[in-house]
Amino acid sequence: MKQLILACLNLAVLGSAQGIAGAAPVPAAAAPPIAAPKDIAFPGGIRLNVDASDIERRIVRVHESITGLAGDAVLLYPRWLPGEHGPNGPIERLAGLTITAGGAGVPWTRDTVDMYAFHLHLPGGTRALEIDFEYLSPTSPSAGPVEFSREILLLEWPSLVLYPAGYFTRQIPAEVELTLPADWQFASALDKESSAANRTTFKQTTLETLVDSPLFAGRYTSRIDLDPGAAVPVHMNLFADRPDLLAVKPEQVAIHRALVQQAYKLFASHHYAHYDFLYSLSDQVRMIGLEHHQSSEDGTLPTVFTEWDKQPWARDLLSHEYTHSWNGKFRRPADLWTPNYNVPMRDTLLWVYEGQTQYWGEVLAARSGLWTRQQALDVWAETAAYFQTLPGSRWRALEDTTNDEIIERDHHLLWRTWQRAFDYYPEGALIWLDADTLIRERSQGKRSLDDFARAFFGIGDGSMTPVTYTFEDVVKALNAVEPNDWSAFLRERLDAVDKPAPLGGITRGGYKLVFNDTQNDYSKAADGARKRTSLLYSVGLVINEKNATIMDVLWEGPAYKAKLTEGMEILAVDGAAYSAEVLKVAIQTAKDSGAPIELIVKSQDRFRVATLDYHGGLRFPHLERDPSVPARLDDLLTPK
Ligand SMILES: [Zn+2]
Repeated sequence: MKQLILACLNLAVLGSAQGIAGAAPVPAAAAPPIAAPKDIAFPGGIRLNVDASDIERRIVRVHESITGLAGDAVLLYPRWLPGEHGPNGPIERLAGLTITAGGAGVPWTRDTVDMYAFHLHLPGGTRALEIDFEYLSPTSPSAGPVEFSREILLLEWPSLVLYPAGYFTRQIPAEVELTLPADWQFASALDKESSAANRTTFKQTTLETLVDSPLFAGRYTSRIDLDPGAAVPVHMNLFADRPDLLAVKPEQVAIHRALVQQAYKLFASHHYAHYDFLYSLSDQVRMIGLEHHQSSEDGTLPTVFTEWDKQPWARDLLSHEYTHSWNGKFRRPADLWTPNYNVPMRDTLLWVYEGQTQYWGEVLAARSGLWTRQQALDVWAETAAYFQTLPGSRWRALEDTTNDEIIERDHHLLWRTWQRAFDYYPEGALIWLDADTLIRERSQGKRSLDDFARAFFGIGDGSMTPVTYTFEDVVKALNAVEPNDWSAFLRERLDAVDKPAPLGGITRGGYKLVFNDTQNDYSKAADGARKRTSLLYSVGLVINEKNATIMDVLWEGPAYKAKLTEGMEILAVDGAAYSAEVLKVAIQTAKDSGAPIELIVKSQDRFRVATLDYHGGLRFPHLERDPSVPARLDDLLTPK
């Protein structure tokens, strides 16, 4: 702190001296240029040698050879990662970067504006660059999402590669040799060339396909065929903390097989030569859901199969990520597709990419049996209630939330109900439910959003080359299914602020959003698994039960008015020690008594009494059948 102040003083002295002596400051010269990517063949290639066997220290050692570079060159570390929609490449974990050519050191200079770019000057006659660095994988959750445990490794190639600026990634040949811990098994959509002991060489591919083909490895694994006998195989590759967690029952296998068949009935196509779910069941490595053309990274709870009934909320992960092979990977928004991983992405159409995937992920969960119909209805009750209540939609349009992956990066968004956060997923899903039921109503049940899915995502069967689209393309495809002013329909829902939530799909689907004092089973299970108590629609609070700390406060709700905020600990309710049950009883008591609820809360090391003047009782959302309208929700959730 002291040093900082001194430095500031020195600058001030210098600044004033210059001010006296010369003209006003002008901008410094720009940093040296970085070649924009071109769609021309890269004259060399990348060969990666990755040693990922250090499961204790979680240090991944990379040796990389790059041929085909000369003179002034720029190497890039991937920053804008497909599926992440933001500039999240973990550059802070790259260390020990050393580059040589022909045995002599090649100095590198990091770009002073773009921290992901390294400038080099190569001596004449350079044939190959030899690059060494380490990727320092997080050793605990406090250091970042854990990718490595003593049983499981989640390996993403973009963390482990530097690549030449100036070329489309599909034009850069890449091959990999990988060393894993002894006796571990792996799965990946990459094609294997050869293997010896714990070392595997993969067939040469392009950098684009390599980055799109992560690899999971582990000590306890199993591989389940989800489409036996099919010419285009689909497998579920499980990686677990313990062998007993791999006990998948035949009826659970049948449900996942049904998912594949229901997706084929919906999209009438596939855009992969083979597909691998990379599915980790762990509380040691991170939870993840990340889509790829021929695989997905699916990381969830260790007991998803062994305690199947307890955690329905974890089960639509696979239906969501699988849908992305069609929506997101094959069909991709034109402004989101980028020629390499350092050209910024623009996320304006994520309400299609993620919103419609959220929708199909939920619908396919019900059609395949991952969820019961009631569970799907419970999820939509929660989503509908949230957006009906959401104060943040008074100032922020849905489309603006598509920027959240770039705005948030790794920062936590405070006051979620006011700020809004990633609403293009659930509110996007509500808009597509709205559109689906409207098509069904207008066509008297003859057509539906399934027809849009087949027409929009089902083109080019078997092709893996992305087909990009614009807003106008979406409107055109909807019009081809059911003529309507879809542009106005969508723009109104995407751009308007301070408008009613898009609940047309619920009412047109034959249901009403109602509230009562009983939490629905799905939401109860989600709260139980996440160890939280959700009281957003009554006192306006969500509480973390691990430490009795407030996780979320509804903007301008009763708790907000009592000046409660995220991070406060609740110590007591009406003079009794806090528990979720004590608070729920107090809410019901205050409904009849008219007396306020008194909380003792702690914020850092300060204590105070907060008074909740709320008398509406417990309120939890449900969908209730409206017999005056056809049960379109039931229809669209029925297996095809
Ligand atoms: Zn997604």
